Amino acid sequence: MTTVALKDVTKVFKDGTVAVDSVNLDVSDGEFMVLLGPSGCGKSTVLRMVAGLEDPTQGAVLLDGELANDLSPRDRKIAMVFQDFALYPHMSVGDNIAFPLRLAGVEPEPRGERVSDVASALGIGDVLARKPSQLSGGQRQRVAMGRAIVRRPGLFLMDEPLSNLDSGLRAELRAEISGLTRELGVTTIYVTHDQAEALTMADRVAIMRRGVLQDVGTPTQVYGRPATLYVAAFLGSPRMNLLEASVYVHLDRYVTLTLGEQALYLPWDDIRSRAVAHYHGERIVVGMRAEALTPVSPDSPGDVLHGRIRYLEHHGHESLAFLDIGATAIVVDEMGSRGDATEAGQRGLRRFGQVMQRLAGKPVDAP
Ligand code: ATP
Repeated sequence: MTTVALKDVTKVFKDGTVAVDSVNLDVSDGEFMVLLGPSGCGKSTVLRMVAGLEDPTQGAVLLDGELANDLSPRDRKIAMVFQDFALYPHMSVGDNIAFPLRLAGVEPEPRGERVSDVASALGIGDVLARKPSQLSGGQRQRVAMGRAIVRRPGLFLMDEPLSNLDSGLRAELRAEISGLTRELGVTTIYVTHDQAEALTMADRVAIMRRGVLQDVGTPTQVYGRPATLYVAAFLGSPRMNLLEASVYVHLDRYVTLTLGEQALYLPWDDIRSRAVAHYHGERIVVGMRAEALTPVSPDSPGDVLHGRIRYLEHHGHESLAFLDIGATAIVVDEMGSRGDATEAGQRGLRRFGQVMQRLAGKPVDAP
């Protein structure tokens, strides 16, 4: 079908705004790539450059390995779906879906067949005669999808296609969209600022901030092993705990990790010792997901961090405890290991540490 490669792509708008800054990204054939980041980070501009709606100031956009910078949008074999759906209000649903085929000169009979195939695949076969104004938001979105896939594009570009829908429908449609694109085997680049959407739909997620690509990986990789502190803090709810710590490797083979006023003594054969040993003498940031911390009783033996619960938050499927562990507050998923937590008071915490980063004298680079 189609591969996409961005090589050092930069976009500077006339007013000097650097919307996209030296982005390198490869999207493989049939892959579902999600561009994720906060509003204004440049993700739509990347998409528009792939579509040919915006020219890169520098760098190359390659489609199927060929330089596409000078290719017009209509020569790129792409289909785009936007958040406002952009349906023609005076045309019926069937005519809206058939429109790209009519433009391409497809004869009425095969055209009708293709439209009804696509409409039944999307579950809108019974509303083909209606006008867009007579549809629900979800149906309109399906029509927009239908119009995009009817020409069997090699590449799908979607810019926040679900953001105008309510949350129940969004969850339903995101499963449908990712299922449909996989079934069709179409390479897809999908822009969103919604991390739940990104993590559930993507084969890989590319996370942007202020025009710069921060991290690219599978949802499991970017969530579990984020490449930068920004990504660590941006992904996941509750936010990853990020604690400053000092590392000291003792010659008689154990490691001290000092977090605020607490010191943990890790024996050499502890996997965490090996992970931090090469930061000897340095200050680092330790990242810990709430669910990676195991609450234990405060007098448990061994290397246990101690904290006092400030408050508990019950969310039904999880109970979060917000703790003071000295200078820093952290959050822990209590439900995971202890059942329903209602008591305040002291806690011990075991098993931690997912990300280690050198601090390099800078404050934590969180959003
Ligand atoms: P959103 O999620 O809000 O759509 P985004 O991540 O898609 O945001 P872009 O629309 O790509 O971000 O915009 C990136 C930056 O470029 C923003 O600072 C935006 O204000 C700026 N920008 C976008 N289009 C133009 C333009 N035509 N002229 C000048 N600046 C622009």
